[in-house]
Amino acid sequence: MKPISVYRPSSIEEAIQILSLHGTQAGVYAGGTDLLIQLKNRIEAAPSFLVDIKKIDGLRHIKENGQGDVQIGALTKLAEVAESDLLAKKYPMLVEAVQKISSPELRNASTVGGDLLQQVWCQYLRGGYSCYRNGGYICYGAIGDNSYYHSAMGGRLCYAVYPGDIATALIPHDARAKVATPFGLKELSIEQLVPGDMMVDGRLQSHVLRFNEILTEVTIPAAKPGFKASFEKLRPRGVWDFAMASLAIGLQLQGKTITDACVVFGGIAGKPWRETAVENFLKGKTLSTDLTRQALATALTDAAPLKYNATKIDMAKGLLASGMARLAAA
Ligand SMILES: Cc1cc2nc3c(=O)[nH]c(=O)nc-3n(C[C@H](O)[C@H](O)[C@H](O)COP(=O)(O)OP(=O)(O)OC[C@H]3O[C@@H](n4cnc5c(N)ncnc54)[C@H](O)[C@@H]3O)c2cc1C
Repeated sequence: MKPISVYRPSSIEEAIQILSLHGTQAGVYAGGTDLLIQLKNRIEAAPSFLVDIKKIDGLRHIKENGQGDVQIGALTKLAEVAESDLLAKKYPMLVEAVQKISSPELRNASTVGGDLLQQVWCQYLRGGYSCYRNGGYICYGAIGDNSYYHSAMGGRLCYAVYPGDIATALIPHDARAKVATPFGLKELSIEQLVPGDMMVDGRLQSHVLRFNEILTEVTIPAAKPGFKASFEKLRPRGVWDFAMASLAIGLQLQGKTITDACVVFGGIAGKPWRETAVENFLKGKTLSTDLTRQALATALTDAAPLKYNATKIDMAKGLLASGMARLAAA
C-alpha cells in the first residue's frame, strides 16, 4: 500500500487548515471504502496525507427543519439513510436508491459525502494505468474495454462514468450541497457539485470541490403535494455491482397532468445525465402507460456509444419504460 500519514482534526476549521497545508497531496478520509482501495491499488493520484473527518461533531445526522426540509450530514452512513423512517416517508425514491447500493457491509461503512464525491471505478485507473486522472495523457477506456465503466454519451478527456447513485436520486428532489471552504460556507446544486470531467487544481475529477473544501451537508426540500418519483437500476448482480444504467424520475402532478418533470440517468455518462428532451416532452401531458412509447422516442437521441457499450443506451431506455410504468400504476 502507498505510505500515508493520517490526521484526526476535531473541527472543520482545523481540517481545512491541514488540507490547505498539504495541497493536493492531502485528501478527506470519510468511510474509506473508495479512498483506501485507491491507496491499496497504489494509484499515483491518491493522497499521501489523509484527513480523517470522523472525529468532527455535527456531520452525522438526518434531521427535519422548520420548513419540512431534511438535512443529511456528510458523514451519515448509507445504512442510516437506507433505514431512516423519516426519509422513507418523505423521499422513498432516495431510500430505494441507497438500498440498492452495493452490500450491507459497504453501506455500513460508506458515507453520503463519500458516495457523492467518489472516484470513478474505471478498471484502467483502478489498475494503476497512467491515464488523465492518474498523471497521464490518455483515456484507456475510450480505446480499450469500455463495456461497463465508460460513457455512452460522449466525453471530453476521461470517458469513465460517474458512478454515484445518490447524486442521480437527489437531482429530482432539487437537493443542495453545503460545502465548507477557507472563506466560509457555500451552497451548490447537485448538478453543480458533480458536473463530471472537471479540471480542478490541476486534477481531473468528477466534482468541483477544491483541495481544501469539505462537503458538510445535503439539504432536500420538502416535496410538494402531487410529487411522484421512481428509481430504477440495472447491474450484473443484485448486490455489490455498480449500475450499468440507472434512472431517477420525478414528476410533479396535478391530478394526472404532469406539470413538471425531471429525468436523470446514471451509469451512462461522466455525470448524472439530465434528459431534458424527455422532460420537455412530458410537461403538460397526461400520465398514462400510453405516454411511455412516445417518451422513449425522444430519449437519448444524443447518445454516442463507444465500441462496446451501445447496450447501455438500450438498458437506459428500458429503465425509462419501467419507471414510467411504475409511476403510471402508482
Ligand atoms: C464493491 C463496491 C460496490 C459499490 N457499488 C456502488 C453502487 O452501486 N452505487 C454507488 O453509488 N456507489 C457504489 N460504491 C461506491 C461506494 O458507495 C463508495 O465507495 C462510498 O460511498 C464512499 O464513501 P466513503 O465514506 O467510504 O468515502 P471515502 O472512501 O472516505 O472517500 C471517497 C472520496 O470522497 C472524498 N470525500 C469523502 N467525504 C468527503 C467530504 N465530506 N468532503 C470532501 N471530500 C470527501 C474523499 O476524499 C475521497 O476522494 C461501491 C463501492 C464498492 C467498493
